[in-house]
Amino acid sequence: MANPLFDQLFGRHAGRTTPFLHLGDGITITHSDFLAIAARYANAFSQLGLTPGDRLALQVEKSPQALAAYAAAVQAGIVFLPLNTGYTPAELEYFIENSGARLVVCDPERAERLRPIASASGARLETLDAQGEGSLPEIARGQPATFDTVARSADDLAALLYTSGTTGRSKGAMLTQTNLLSNAETLVDYWRFTDADVLLHALPIFHTHGLFVATNVILLSGGSMIFLPKFDLDAMIAHLPQATSMMGVPTFYTRLLGDPRFTKELVRHMRLFVSGSAPLLAETHVQFEQRTGHRILERYGMTETNMNTSNPYDGARRAGTVGFPLPGVELKVTDPATGDRLPDGEIGQIEVRGPNVFKGYWQMPEKTREELREDGFFITGDLGFIDDQGYLQIVGRNKDLIISGGYNIYPKEIESVLDDQPGVLESAVVGVPHPDFGETVVGFLVAENGRSPDVQAIELAVGAELARFKHPRRLIMLPELPRNTMGKVQKNVLRQEYGGLFA
Ligand code: ATP
Ligand code: MG
Repeated sequence: MANPLFDQLFGRHAGRTTPFLHLGDGITITHSDFLAIAARYANAFSQLGLTPGDRLALQVEKSPQALAAYAAAVQAGIVFLPLNTGYTPAELEYFIENSGARLVVCDPERAERLRPIASASGARLETLDAQGEGSLPEIARGQPATFDTVARSADDLAALLYTSGTTGRSKGAMLTQTNLLSNAETLVDYWRFTDADVLLHALPIFHTHGLFVATNVILLSGGSMIFLPKFDLDAMIAHLPQATSMMGVPTFYTRLLGDPRFTKELVRHMRLFVSGSAPLLAETHVQFEQRTGHRILERYGMTETNMNTSNPYDGARRAGTVGFPLPGVELKVTDPATGDRLPDGEIGQIEVRGPNVFKGYWQMPEKTREELREDGFFITGDLGFIDDQGYLQIVGRNKDLIISGGYNIYPKEIESVLDDQPGVLESAVVGVPHPDFGETVVGFLVAENGRSPDVQAIELAVGAELARFKHPRRLIMLPELPRNTMGKVQKNVLRQEYGGLFA
């Protein structure tokens, strides 16, 4: 009897009093403490009537107990379904209904709103708050600190993880034990994680980045994490000196760079900085190196596949690229119309195949058929090309491609020009409906702190650099770009809001 994911990530630490979680307040939870909490939760889940294959939906603040619920679900063969804490109760209805969850765990403050939603779909509801208190830990407290691990096979579902909903409604990605385990093994190796690592963990644990990339890598390597409830500049500055490595979204890096306390001295001892989930501006990469002497390692992945590509550990970490396919991952760039492989250098859709690629979308057979080819290649929805040094460069999402007067326009090309203009912090370019051209280009600009860019001068500069059909018909200043909780720019929000500009 075996449960590969549990055995490899958690079971291996049985009886070890080595540190696993350093909490901000000086308390440390050892591996064996953590396993005991997890076992109590696994017993609690069984007592609540959950059986292997059932879905456990959990929308709670980040805490060691929330992480223990993940371990417990794996140990009990329950499918783990963490949900973004930013979702409103109304939004949660979709996830609860769609997943057919048997148990919903939420913050006590939301229990009243969610109880009718849970019961309408036949689920129980228990609570867990940011301090690790609530009705679920109460049940867990009275349970034994050991649990007979439920046997699972490599192909059994371990998690149902919903995509971030950047391009449309979130889809439930069915992830197997092998999907998660194979990727963690690859990353430990590729990024050289060992039991000496202390990872500064400030990411949310409802997303693949903080949960599967960061946590699974640390569990497998035997290292520990400084487990912060969220990204907070003061806490980051205070804890960086104790860390060896950090994983973050690009906004972590820009915010650190914006703080004068973030110095070369502060991070001299660090081994590795990883970035992902959204494109890291080349400018941030360069600034970071100038400030610290470290080159951020950018990688590329998604909910459906875990990580696909990474810049190398030893070789050149190149700004603006996401590196090479990870060992075991096959990657090709294809023509969206025919599905044929394109020569290097040409832009097309990025497809990947490997043990990391999910089983399909939960209860969306058609969507699965559209995006997951019979031969195992997954059409990621991202566009990119392999450059002359073999690195993958992402140019944007297929859905964000603008087709104007029959020409393909890649927003990133225009955004790069806009980003370089004086006084511009960042930009987003989208296509909106246009009576003559089908679609036309609109650019949104955010000013650097305290500056007001000269929009007319920018129009002239863009005119000199880009072909006429790529010129934004309108440049609009915004105080900030709409972003979801993962820091991703929501272009669909811009398209919706400004869709009537030329109608
Ligand atoms: P949805 O699929 O619901 O629209 P989403 O694609 O944003 O949401 P995730 O799975 O969280 O949901 O994000 C994966 C996407 O994030 C990738 O497809 C890619 O577009 C983007 N991404 C991840 N890492 C990088 C990176 N290093 N550079 C550029 N884009 C990245
Ligand atoms: Mg996606």
